[in-house]
Amino acid sequence: AGIRPEFIEQVRQKLASRTFEHYIGGQFVPGARGEVFETLDPATNRVLARVYRGHAEDIERAAQAAHGAFKTGWGRLKARERKKYLLKIASLIEKHGDELATIECLDAGQVLKIVRGQIARTAENFSFYADWAERAMDGRTYPVDAEWVYYTLRVPVGVCGIITPWNAPMMLSTWRIAPALAFGNTVILKPAEWSPLTAWKLAEIMQEADLPPGTFNVVQGFGEEAGAPLVAHPLVPLITLTGETTTGSIVMKNAADQLKRLSLELGGKSPAIIFEDADFERALDATIFQIYSFNGERCTANSRALVQESLLETFVSRVAERAARVKVGHPLDPETEVGPLIHPEHLERVLGYVRIGQEEGARLVVGGERVGSEGNYMRPALFVGENHMRIAQEEIFGPVLTVIPFKDEADALAKANDVKYGLAAYVWTRDVTRAHRMGLALDSGMTWINSHNVRHLPTPFGGVKFSGTHREGGEYSLEFYTELKCIAVPL
Ligand code: NAD
Repeated sequence: AGIRPEFIEQVRQKLASRTFEHYIGGQFVPGARGEVFETLDPATNRVLARVYRGHAEDIERAAQAAHGAFKTGWGRLKARERKKYLLKIASLIEKHGDELATIECLDAGQVLKIVRGQIARTAENFSFYADWAERAMDGRTYPVDAEWVYYTLRVPVGVCGIITPWNAPMMLSTWRIAPALAFGNTVILKPAEWSPLTAWKLAEIMQEADLPPGTFNVVQGFGEEAGAPLVAHPLVPLITLTGETTTGSIVMKNAADQLKRLSLELGGKSPAIIFEDADFERALDATIFQIYSFNGERCTANSRALVQESLLETFVSRVAERAARVKVGHPLDPETEVGPLIHPEHLERVLGYVRIGQEEGARLVVGGERVGSEGNYMRPALFVGENHMRIAQEEIFGPVLTVIPFKDEADALAKANDVKYGLAAYVWTRDVTRAHRMGLALDSGMTWINSHNVRHLPTPFGGVKFSGTHREGGEYSLEFYTELKCIAVPL
């Protein structure tokens, strides 16, 4: 369902009416240096809101608040109390769903249809981990010959630094905040500078939930100015970063001096592999959805479609026909399928790849041009190319699909794995054994067989090679956000 225009206008006015503060120690506070940055509305590139630009002083303040809360507040609460708070946060997210959705659409340019699903997931992240709060700290026992007993138990790590990208701010941040809090840690969130606003609303929700001060903190600002001091801060033993691969390696280097616990969820160039025995219509629908929905700004997008030679021309003409009809429009229009890209610089980068593809000899079948003169709109692009080309090797993070033909299974596998990334893969075939064989052999953290990306929260999420270093989700988050201790007792 759409959101009423009067409500959207009300939200816009609210966003224009103040400079958005950091949230530290349970209070909204201006930045220590008073500097401000602007976040743009990607539909117009006009200023949507002004936000304080954080620096090391703000991180210092947040680290002290979060550390204090860990030692004396949240860190001392009983698990069943933490569970109650998490459930309360989940229901407040639902209560403020329309406002959160409106802000996310206006700030990130993501379309309403998708954002509604993301807000539901955001609430679910908290309700899912609420259930873990009470049962998760169990350990194991290791009796030895009636002479010893060793046992393990889990304790929280402390202050968790959570650094997130601009594409899905609510969903990606809460996916870390919820387990971190459930297991008794406190949090400092550093949202991306291109879409900082739902983090402010989340802080307001935490305040409404009456979360003990210092449990959840937000420091806004740029990577080098606010992210880097968070990574370097001695009171923050854990960092989880979702972002570009190059950022991941910088953060890894910067965290090395203090041997921090790190989870890196990075870029991708995931293949959809479509064999001639596939359910063609389903493969077509899913592949289109996985590259053009979410404005193509999805880490697990199938930005390469590897298609068996005999299907190539049919596949290309069917995608072209659909891509030309995709409704590009305002993110808050419920009919819109592709909204504006996040920022004029990002649009330039994506259009730059369209030019690169043409220069390197790929066939541009449809799209790839700017739409209108206002905002960051473009027509979804479809290329037929080869796997060695830059458009097939580099993450574009926009609505650009490169179709690449393959001969047989061995050729498909070789091409699929011949990229530096390894986040996700999609295999379309009716041959059951081949599907499993591919699942095993593909360089990917996650493989979906005959399906688009359907996330199940207990399962591990993450990539191999340059796509990341860790897994989060279910018990994998428990491992990451807790310390495992072993205690030995002679009997
Ligand atoms: P980015 O790497 O530019 O920024 C991510 C975050 O890191 C931002 O908050 C930024 O301010 C911060 N940052 C930048 N430099 C830093 C530094 N030196 N120290 C600390 N923090 C720093 O990424 P982006 O452009 O915001 O997001 C797009 C990228 O995110 C794409 O590569 C996409 O694939 C990736 N992504 C990955 C996943 C996943 O789960 N694997 C999910 C979504 C997005």
